Amino acid sequence: MHIPDIIIAIDGYSSTGKSTFAKLIASEFGFLYLDSGALYRGVTLYAMEHGIIKDDNSIDLGKLKPALTDLDIRFRSSDKGSLTYIGDRCVEKEIRTLAVSDKVSPIAAVPEVREYVDRKLREFGKKKRIVMDGRDIGTTVFPEAELKIFMTASPEVRAERRLKELLAKGENVSYEDVLHNLAERDRIDSSRETSPLAKADDALILDNSDMTLDDQIKWVKAVLSDRFGNHAEKPMKFGKS
Ligand code: C5P
Repeated sequence: MHIPDIIIAIDGYSSTGKSTFAKLIASEFGFLYLDSGALYRGVTLYAMEHGIIKDDNSIDLGKLKPALTDLDIRFRSSDKGSLTYIGDRCVEKEIRTLAVSDKVSPIAAVPEVREYVDRKLREFGKKKRIVMDGRDIGTTVFPEAELKIFMTASPEVRAERRLKELLAKGENVSYEDVLHNLAERDRIDSSRETSPLAKADDALILDNSDMTLDDQIKWVKAVLSDRFGNHAEKPMKFGKS
C-alpha cells in the first residue's frame, strides 16, 4: 500500500505501547519514527544531574531556563535504531530508568521546556513521512497531522507491560512502584496548564488492552487503506472514534 507524505501523530497515556506501535508503523511504511518523550526525558536527566530538580520534585527555574539555551539533546541513528544523546554522550539507557520516569512529568510541565522540545520536534515535521509519539503531538505539535491516534489501555495492563520491560533491563522495581508512577504521570500530564495530555477532536481511539501488536497493525493498515489506499477495506472494529 502506498501512503502519501503525511504525519502520523500518536498520543496517549503512559505505557500504552505507543513507541512499539509507532516504530512498527514506521518500518512498515518507510517513515521516520520520533520519540518525543525521549527529549523530555533527556532534559530531566540533565536537570537531575545538575541539581535543578530536587528530591521533592521542586525545580530551580532560575537554573533550568538559561540551561536550555545551550542544552544539546539530539537523536542519532544506529543499528539499534535511534538513540538519544546529550552532547556526545549516549543517554538512552539512563533516560529509561524509573528514577527519570519519576521526575519527567514535573519537568515536562514547565512551559519553557515544552517550547524547547517543540522547536526540535517541528523541525522533523518539515519533510513529513514521520510517525511521532507523545502526549500533545496531535493537539499542539502537529495539529495539522493527517492521521491522529489516541492510545489507551487499562492501568493494570499497562503496569504489567512496563514492569516486564523494566525487569528485563535489570531494574529492581515492584508492580506497585510502576502502577504508582504511571498514575502520577497521567495525572500530572493531563492536568498541566501548557499542552496537557488530551485526545485531539479528530483522533481515533485505540484501546489495546486486549489487542496483540499484530491486531494493532491490522487495525492501522485498515484505517490507512480506508483513508489513503485504493482498496477501501473498512477499519476493523477494535477502535472507537
Ligand atoms: O513517552 P514517555 O513515557 O517516554 O514520555 C515521558 C514523559 O514525557 C511523559 O510522562 C510526559 O510527562 C512527557 N511528555 C510530554 N509530552 C510529550 C511526550 C512526553 O509531556 N509529547
